[in-house]
Amino acid sequence: MSTLEIKNLNVSIGDRPILKDFTLTIPKGEVHAIMGPNGTGKSTLAKALAGHPDYTVTSGEVLLDGKNILETEADERSRAGLFMAFQYPSEIPGVTIANFIRAALQSRLAEGEELDATAYYKKLYQKMDLLKIDRKFTSRAVNEGFSGGEKKRCEILQMAMLEPSYAVLDETDSGLDIDALRIVADGVNSLRGAKLGVLLITHYQRLLNYIVPDVVHVMYDGRIVKSGPKELALELESKGYDWVKDLVPA
Ligand code: ADP
Ligand code: MG
Repeated sequence: MSTLEIKNLNVSIGDRPILKDFTLTIPKGEVHAIMGPNGTGKSTLAKALAGHPDYTVTSGEVLLDGKNILETEADERSRAGLFMAFQYPSEIPGVTIANFIRAALQSRLAEGEELDATAYYKKLYQKMDLLKIDRKFTSRAVNEGFSGGEKKRCEILQMAMLEPSYAVLDETDSGLDIDALRIVADGVNSLRGAKLGVLLITHYQRLLNYIVPDVVHVMYDGRIVKSGPKELALELESKGYDWVKDLVPA
């Protein structure tokens, strides 16, 4: 049961249904990519999984290693092992990256247990080196004044430090030049392994040259309309998204 299982998930924004019986299983150890045109509900999926209050789950289940997480708050989902990197990461003025990640890790410890500061900074610097993030960033406020690429690297730094069981990365490639894309991809690839399941949301095939997925899913109008091997991404790149409309069940 080491899976993130999304079963018949229906999500609305206000009265408008966006996700329609969305169903997908990500086994630990695999990287699944979701590709789809803009406005199809990819970010809605990520936000609903994170527990964003604007996104109303009207029915369905999300089972993390067999346990339904939909009834739990966002912080509990995080502690249960779910990680989200958002398409548009928020700025948190006044909170440094070092303190932000430290607080997140501290909140995972049992009451009365204290995070070892020396070990923490050692690991933080090691991961920052991996992601080619300058050490002066440790004392900068989270995402404040960061470039697009710096924000995305900061997201992957959080993921590297929190060591989630399942990570959902929403358009982690958007706004990145090729060098930043490589660094982010290297970071994600270095975290790949039997203990992590990844859901990679992307509009473009380009990212998948660097993070090669085990399975590619095509999303259209709030649901998966086709799944296949990594080559499916190339097909989408060459044919565009127009033909995908015909795959929607009547
Ligand atoms: P994608 O990430 O695939 O581009 P989104 O999930 O962002 O798609 O959007 C799906 C649909 O929901 C779009 O029509 C979008 O305009 C609408 N939508 C998304 N977020 C909101 C919101 N906070 N308020 C109102 N409509 C929204
Ligand atoms: Mg989106």
